Amino acid sequence: MTPLQSTSHRRLNPLTREWVLVSPHRMERPWQGQTERTASPAGVQYDPTCYLCPGNQRANGDVNPAYPHTFVFDNDYAALRADAGSAKVDRGGLIVSEAEPGICRVICFSPRHDLTLARMSVQEIRRVVAVWSEQYRELGALPMIGSVQIFENRGAMMGASNPHPHCQVWASHSLPNELAKELTAQRDYHAARHSCLLCDYLKLELQAGERIVYENEHFVALVPFWAVWPFETMLLPRRHVRSIDALSEAEAMALADALRMLTTRYDNVFETAFPYSMGFHQAPTDSAAHPEWHLHAHFFPPLLRSATVRKFMVGFEMLGTPQRDITAEAAAQRLREVSATHYLDRAGSA
Ligand SMILES: [Zn+2]
Ligand SMILES: [Zn+2]
Ligand SMILES: [Zn+2]
Repeated sequence: MTPLQSTSHRRLNPLTREWVLVSPHRMERPWQGQTERTASPAGVQYDPTCYLCPGNQRANGDVNPAYPHTFVFDNDYAALRADAGSAKVDRGGLIVSEAEPGICRVICFSPRHDLTLARMSVQEIRRVVAVWSEQYRELGALPMIGSVQIFENRGAMMGASNPHPHCQVWASHSLPNELAKELTAQRDYHAARHSCLLCDYLKLELQAGERIVYENEHFVALVPFWAVWPFETMLLPRRHVRSIDALSEAEAMALADALRMLTTRYDNVFETAFPYSMGFHQAPTDSAAHPEWHLHAHFFPPLLRSATVRKFMVGFEMLGTPQRDITAEAAAQRLREVSATHYLDRAGSA
């Protein structure tokens, strides 16, 4: 077999100049999303059939330890592999591919099968923040790794294969499309104005106030002016830091608090476990200093009008430009005004 049929690589789209990641080695993954959909949000604390619960066996035969807090392991069905090699293809700049070596890991947030970030304590989330910080530092230090993407897919609607609270880390050699675009924008802004794009943007948002969802001493959650998804948000540190591992203890606690408050508000909008894809955009780990980069997280939730009515990115949006009906300001107001107490914790709810 040629490397294109057997190892992780990326292929260039010469029309958009963006890349697609291809992982032909990836086996059929276990799917535990749909069958769990009928379980109540406050379901079982331990599920004997879950491959992430403590003490259970995973598909590759490994047995999870009886972990008390968090647990990290190499993804048994990794989209990226360290042994991808360095093969390149280039036929006239039109058929272009490169080997894409990398490492994929899974981080369990808690031994409890039934928890979510919104239902965990700030102290428990603080432990997850510590693991994110360690993983960014450890994987980013490898010469092979130029980017560490931490992300969480929550809910079967977002393709999460298991409801157990967890996230993934995909550490890759090259810079993924979204990071590459944001690097160029932040660099250009920094070069032109000797200032940080997101520091300046955050100042404007704090002055305006109308798109702020939640703020504490060190972090601000807001609906970005340019948001595409109905309830899309960004979470930013007030201080200019490049990555999670540069946060102070007080900032890491504030991040844990902001994650808890933001996800609680999400759940309260439609009184459901709000599905989303979220992830952190941190400075590339290519050994450059990256003074332009400002750490932030994006939340992309698909829900539009209820627990089941979602937005689709189709038609003009797929072929042209994304479109939305509810304004960013109205979405922020909605998120700001829902209760700060999780609906499952309110008196009278069982
Ligand atoms: Zn589980
Ligand atoms: Zn900044
Ligand atoms: Zn970003």
